[in-house]
Amino acid sequence: MIFYNPALDFRFLDYGIEIPVEDSRAQTVFSHLQKLDSSLEYFDTSLVPAISKDDLLLVHNLDFVDHLYGPYSELEREMMTCFELVDSSGNYHRYNPKNAKKDFSHAIDILLKQTGMTYLATKESLKSGFSYFLGGGMHHAMSFGGRGFGLVNDIVIALRKLQNEKLIKSAWVIDVDAHKGDGTAELTARDSSITTLSIHMKEGWPLDSGTVRDPWFIPCDIEVGIDVGEEDQYLDRLQMALNEMALNYPHPDVAIVVNGADPYEHDELQSTDKLKLSLEQMLKRDILVYEFLRERKIPQSYVMAGGYGKRSWEIYTQFLKFVWESSSKRSEVSSR
Ligand SMILES: [Zn+2]
Repeated sequence: MIFYNPALDFRFLDYGIEIPVEDSRAQTVFSHLQKLDSSLEYFDTSLVPAISKDDLLLVHNLDFVDHLYGPYSELEREMMTCFELVDSSGNYHRYNPKNAKKDFSHAIDILLKQTGMTYLATKESLKSGFSYFLGGGMHHAMSFGGRGFGLVNDIVIALRKLQNEKLIKSAWVIDVDAHKGDGTAELTARDSSITTLSIHMKEGWPLDSGTVRDPWFIPCDIEVGIDVGEEDQYLDRLQMALNEMALNYPHPDVAIVVNGADPYEHDELQSTDKLKLSLEQMLKRDILVYEFLRERKIPQSYVMAGGYGKRSWEIYTQFLKFVWESSSKRSEVSSR
């Protein structure tokens, strides 16, 4: 099932944030899917469960959560850190508040609704085996605050909420975004019920050099760093990592796939230029993960994560088209 409503798109420019995310990427993907299946409709946002302060506290620490609900200046500071809107000398960086049409209270509302969608889509995948939310994937958000364009970690919040409701015990997070899922790693480092795999650019993230003691250097359970020029090894190394996951952490109740399109060679965010997979390699990547989970009957729930510039929609669309075509073939065979 596809989860999407344009009302939940996070439009950077609305808040004066000048980051090259094509605002319409999810909408473009959805329109292409409607050509395949005309019955596809926007998800009714009134059905998205509210994410409460208690839900956030399943993952984030009290200081940070208090800032989100506290005076506007505290929320603003958390947003500035998260979206890297101030440079080291204290000046605005790719941020032009004069152009903002909405304030950050609106932004947090959208991001919490996206978190509700990640939760709902993952819950639905437990029944149907597959769901895709055209949004979410804030994998850099850590216990103490938002980072790397992700304010709260919708992935871990969704899983912990499902665990609290006794709908799942264990989960995998398979993160194929170009950047390491460092927030997810930090949040689940001492949680054996959630296993994390991240395949990403070897260098270039975390951005702050820092020291290895910094929380963003905490490794995922299985971590694969692809160095500049190693694109031809990408698929084999992903396959090996998945095999290792299935061997050492078998039978999870669900898997969330952090399906970033930013390893694509035509991605426009400068910090992703150390990994350049072709359109064809990107499709093979997604099919590899999809079939791996399907063969093992592990429910799979996808979130979009990073994907920047005019062509990122191609990656999501080609994969969802593949899923649609292969599942309609399967239902044809079974109805015979
Ligand atoms: Zn990314």
